[in-house]
Amino acid sequence: MNRNISLQNGELVTILTKEKKQGKTRFISLRWLLLFAYAITGIIPLLLMTGIMLRSVQDYFEEERKKELLRQANVISGQLTSSDYLFDGQEHTDMEELILEASQNNDFRVLVLDSSCMVVYDTGYEDVGKTFLLPEVVEALENKDTARKQKNGAIYAAASIMGANKTRAGVVLIADGLADVQDTIGNVGRKASILLLAIILFVLAVMFVSSKVFTEPVKSMIRVIQKMSEGHFEQRAVIKTGIHNEIVDLAIACNQMADQLEKVESSRQQFVSNVSHELKTPLSSVKVLSESILLQEDVPKEMYVEFLHDINSEVDRMTAIINDLLTLVKLDQKEIPLNFQEVDLNAMMADIIKRLQPLAAAKEISLQWEELKEVSADADEMKLSLAISNLVDNAVKYTPEGGEVKVTLDADHQHAFISVTDTGIGIPEEEVNRIFERFYRVDKTRDRETGGTGLGLSITHATIMMHNGSIKVNSKEEEGTTILVRIPLRQNV
Ligand code: ADP
Repeated sequence: MNRNISLQNGELVTILTKEKKQGKTRFISLRWLLLFAYAITGIIPLLLMTGIMLRSVQDYFEEERKKELLRQANVISGQLTSSDYLFDGQEHTDMEELILEASQNNDFRVLVLDSSCMVVYDTGYEDVGKTFLLPEVVEALENKDTARKQKNGAIYAAASIMGANKTRAGVVLIADGLADVQDTIGNVGRKASILLLAIILFVLAVMFVSSKVFTEPVKSMIRVIQKMSEGHFEQRAVIKTGIHNEIVDLAIACNQMADQLEKVESSRQQFVSNVSHELKTPLSSVKVLSESILLQEDVPKEMYVEFLHDINSEVDRMTAIINDLLTLVKLDQKEIPLNFQEVDLNAMMADIIKRLQPLAAAKEISLQWEELKEVSADADEMKLSLAISNLVDNAVKYTPEGGEVKVTLDADHQHAFISVTDTGIGIPEEEVNRIFERFYRVDKTRDRETGGTGLGLSITHATIMMHNGSIKVNSKEEEGTTILVRIPLRQNV
């Protein structure tokens, strides 16, 4: 969606905003993503761990029960072996009472089977005479006493009864349901589920709050940036103090960007209003001058000449402003590189002095030129010459008649130094940093008289910066000003 927006100064800009639905991209809130990630990494492992723990406890209980039942079966089978139960009818009642007691005490069922797997005795009384070809019974008869969990959840433990000559004559089979184990596990499981639910609810609440803490500032920043993209540069993201993290840093950076944008926007507006104002003044003069001739009848020729002369100088002034503006615009277009060539700075400087000497002479200012070294540097001669001319021109302009202006050229093994010192009016300390601003003048009225555009130092500054140099001002009001320019001898282009 493209929107045309009118900024305060009436300029029409087109802002390209992202469509909410862009093709197939789906908007998934960062908050839900965070919640989802939390859920996967926090809750699912918790559930798995609880499940595994319950399972292990159950397995442990079952194993213990198997061992216990096998031990009991062994005790009974030992007693039956020694009492010769299977072969001696006399011992039956005593032994059966003993087995019944064990069965009742332990709440399990005991069956005694003979070598053909037929039930000889059953504490449940139901299956006497039946044949049980259970794998546990067969294994016990063959070689090994076994306890195993059945599909129905019960445990069968089978221990062999020994006959004569160490043969296996029968089997004691204990059958025990695992109801009590299941009850215990169920209980533990229920308690674990309640605890788990409480933990999950707690974790979800923490996730919900923390994801809000994370995403709220991001949302507020998005709102701010959207507002800024609509031209409201005064918008700022709210930064809550107390905690500090990357998101707070992001909000701070966002606000700094807003500050910068606001500054650029306001300086742009200021610039436009300055340009209009600067051009309006000479235009008004032209208008007044021309109207006063047009409205008068029988204007004498001398007046025509005088007024046309004034009009001409106002036009010159406008031309100067526009030329300076064009120079600045060209310097601002950084993609147009400077035309660096080896320049003989001594010759360039001597030329500048020669050109400005008449200006100084007209004000009876002594313009001195001192070259301390032979210096050649990589520079764009035309632009650098204009930049230095502006400095010498200012020195002459802002020095009263009879004053002095001294220009020097020096160098070390890396830099060239050009200084322009005058005995002029100087610049107030608090204004020194502002003189490179476009259209900035210390004293507006006086500068109208001196004819400056207020752009000269902006041009000089931009040019020196493009030469990777620096410019410093030392000034004292009523005493004079020194401007020191430093540029590198070699440009690494
Ligand atoms: P202008 O065209 O008005 O001279 P500049 O950009 O060259 O514009 O200079 C900006 C302002 O800085 C001037 O208006 C003046 O007030 C002050 N200035 C510059 N050079 C000097 C100087 N050598 N001595 C005193 N003031 C100066």
